[in-house]
Amino acid sequence: MGVAGACGGSVTVYVAGCNLRCIDCWADSSREDPVLLAPWWTPERVAQALGRFDRHDRILKGTGILRLSGGETFLSASSVRFLGRLRSLIPGPLVVETNGILLGSDRQFVSDLAAMKPNPPFIRLSLKAATPAHFQRITGGAGHAVDLPFSAISFLLRAEAPFDLEAVSLSPELMDSEERDLLVARLRSIHPPLVDRLKEEKLTLYPSTRRRMKASSQASGTRVPTCPLPNRTT
Ligand code: SF4
Repeated sequence: MGVAGACGGSVTVYVAGCNLRCIDCWADSSREDPVLLAPWWTPERVAQALGRFDRHDRILKGTGILRLSGGETFLSASSVRFLGRLRSLIPGPLVVETNGILLGSDRQFVSDLAAMKPNPPFIRLSLKAATPAHFQRITGGAGHAVDLPFSAISFLLRAEAPFDLEAVSLSPELMDSEERDLLVARLRSIHPPLVDRLKEEKLTLYPSTRRRMKASSQASGTRVPTCPLPNRTT
C-alpha cells in the first residue's frame, strides 16, 4: 500500500504491484516495481494517514467509504490478513478492487473475507476476458488463468460475500463482441442474475494506459485507439 488520495465521498489507498500486466491498466510504474512506493504501509499506518483528509472522521465513524485500488490487493495470504487487521481498525464501508486471480485459486481466501463480520469488505472484481487466448493477449498471463476469476465469483456467491463485477467490454479494440458475449454467457452459466451485477465500461486512456496500449500496439503492429483523456482526481 502507498499513496492515498480523496475523491467524492471516498478515500482511496493506492496498492502497489500486480500479478497481471494488462495493456489497458491505468496503474503507475509501481505496478511493475512496487519498491517505488516503499516503505509500504501497515494497516495502522493506513488508519493514521486518513487523518490527512477532511473525510477521515466519516471514514473512521463508518459513514464514508475507504477504497483500495491501483494495483492488485490480493497477492498472497498476507493480503487477506492485512484486510482483517484493517477491518478491525476501520469498521465502515471498505471497497476492495481485485482481478480475482488469487481469490479464485483457493476458496479459503474468500471464506476468510466473508468471515469478517459484521462488515466484510465489498469486493469489486474486474473481469479481463472469457477465453484463454484473449486473457493472454490482454493480461500477459497464462491463458488457463482465465478461469480463476470465474472460480472466485463462484466462491463469493457460495460464501454470500458482497461483490460486484466490472469489465472494459464496450470498446471493440480491447474486447470484440464475440468475446464480450462469451463473457456474459460464462456469468450466466454460473448464476443468471450475475449478468445484472456486471458494470460494463469503455476504455479510458489514462496516461499509463496510453503508454501501455502504445507498447502493446507496437509489439503487435496495430493502431493505438484514440479517446479523450479523463479528469482523474485520485
Ligand atoms: S489487474 Fe488491474 S492493476 Fe493489475 S495489471 Fe490488470 S488492470 Fe492493472
